[in-house]
Amino acid sequence: MKTMGLRSLSLVDPPPTFPGEQAIRRAAGAADVLEGAQVCSTLDEAIGPCGLVVGTSARTRSIDWPTLLPTEAVKELVRDAAHGQVAVLFGQERSGLDNREVERCRYLVAIPTAPHFTSLNLASAAQIMAYELFLGLSEATDGKPSALGADNCADQETMRRFYRHLESVLLDIDFPNVRPPVKLMRKLVRLFNRAALSEEEVSILRGILSEIQAVAGKKI
Ligand code: SAH
Repeated sequence: MKTMGLRSLSLVDPPPTFPGEQAIRRAAGAADVLEGAQVCSTLDEAIGPCGLVVGTSARTRSIDWPTLLPTEAVKELVRDAAHGQVAVLFGQERSGLDNREVERCRYLVAIPTAPHFTSLNLASAAQIMAYELFLGLSEATDGKPSALGADNCADQETMRRFYRHLESVLLDIDFPNVRPPVKLMRKLVRLFNRAALSEEEVSILRGILSEIQAVAGKKI
């Protein structure tokens, strides 16, 4: 990671022995990245301050999620990184990302491989993504600070609160046949992910949701 210029590492619920001797040995000269890693107990805590989150996955998924090639994902990441924090999310070595984790991502990225060997090990996938980011960043900035534009998009913590609000409104108004609205919420998250809402847009939508709740409250 460090060789590719990346330093900011967040780990969700690592083993209690972290960073541990083995990890430090493998980090070969980048122990400072491990020691400076942010250790979080939940994924939401790790990605809370980020706008764009891109998940990495080998698998053809049971849920249909927008999936990019590494170079396409890097373009998005570099553009948004000029305005706030972004994240690339990796899954566990054995199980990868589960559906709830995928729902936190605006996009998935799949590193192309030979058809019958789609699943790389985690370290290889992380190295390839770090390299692509390194190339993408150098190309976009040409050594200078990035001047690429994009609205300041709402961070994950804001989006999580918005989705909770939206879900509670769906329940308040007894939205037909969705109790609990798991599948519907997944579709709505995918929709709002595509829109990459700004903080202001989220607060307008939350204002509308509050009004709906007030009116629904009057009716009951
Ligand atoms: N059975 C799991 C394998 C996990 S491999 C799965 O299919 O997802 C461990 C991690 O490495 C994955 O969670 C992902 O973050 C990354 N990874 C492995 N192969 C990848 C690929 N081809 N493209 C993108 N990420 C990959």
